Amino acid sequence: MEKDHLVFVFCNHNDIWFDRLRTKNPIVISYVKGRLRDTPFVSAYRALRESAFSVCTAPVYRWQKRGAIIVNYHGVSPPLTDPDIAIHVPPDLFRKQIRHLKTYYKVVSLAELLDSLEAGYSIPSNWAVLTFDDGFRNNLTYAWQILREEGAIPISLFIITDFIGTNNVFWGDLIPLVVMCCRNQMLRVPCDENSWELRPLHTRRQREFLGIEIVDVLKSIPENKRQPILDEFFLQFGTGEIDEIRSRSSYYNSLSWDEVRFLHSNGVDVGSHTRTHAYMRPELGLKRMQEEIFGSREKIREELGKAPDHFCYPNGTRDDFCELSGRLLREAGYRCGLTTVLGTVQNSADPFELRRQIHISSMARFRTVVAAGKQHYRNF
Ligand SMILES: [Zn+2]
Repeated sequence: MEKDHLVFVFCNHNDIWFDRLRTKNPIVISYVKGRLRDTPFVSAYRALRESAFSVCTAPVYRWQKRGAIIVNYHGVSPPLTDPDIAIHVPPDLFRKQIRHLKTYYKVVSLAELLDSLEAGYSIPSNWAVLTFDDGFRNNLTYAWQILREEGAIPISLFIITDFIGTNNVFWGDLIPLVVMCCRNQMLRVPCDENSWELRPLHTRRQREFLGIEIVDVLKSIPENKRQPILDEFFLQFGTGEIDEIRSRSSYYNSLSWDEVRFLHSNGVDVGSHTRTHAYMRPELGLKRMQEEIFGSREKIREELGKAPDHFCYPNGTRDDFCELSGRLLREAGYRCGLTTVLGTVQNSADPFELRRQIHISSMARFRTVVAAGKQHYRNF
């Protein structure tokens, strides 16, 4: 079978979201390398086909869809360093997406969706819920401003409580940024828990691909073994270089507690995304999981005067939550746990395993994905 054919089969059933690439999968690597070799002409042609496809199919998907959709954003910001390494939607595109939702869907709060779910009511398929993970300052400076201009649109923010008011950046965001912008021409990168290899950084494409690959490797390593590897990795850069790169990418700045209070007092729902962005995998252990789940809840209660009702699992794939985390969330008093497993929220949904759709970097794809509410759509 042709390699390209294999690629197509894989892509047709999985959203290609760089964070989740299994780097040891040669099919995925060949797909990504193929995409990175795209010329502007090929990219424009793909965009045109995707746009035509979405205009034709979105009404049919909307009609077929069952259940509400929860959209998962991170931030809204103009590209400051490099558009390909940001998980932030440009403001113009975000505004278009909000207008699209207002036209074809009813944007409701997460609490309203949970009320219906808990009461056993049928979940309308035109409902949409907006969520923002990680507590970036641009949630206030861009997203909230746009949402306010577009009407009173409810949103839920999920904050990492130890990061609020600090300069901390989640390592999964920092690594692609540093790899893209550093002065090094070669880099030692982890291949797994025990081995490293030297990799070139001569071209922008090499940097882009390597940043993604390193994050993917590190995500597969248990929490207690990851930190020494991260420390060793960051030692390769010049004194102050990381801070200098960081200062050029303000979209990773976190909200302060005053800003969180301001948003909360203006009707924004604030939920927990743990204390340190630890993955809720069984290997984390009871004590650490309790600290993350109970500790973040207590901190939000202290700062806002109200304990959060909602929780969002960091990374959020099927591997990133477990029976223990679900039990602890219930014990702590949360009403739900949001994942990044793709799909809709239907009548029978488990509130502690709510599915979402990730933020989408093109209007055509956004239109298709929110209408389809499922993970298989064409990749162009
Ligand atoms: Zn997160």
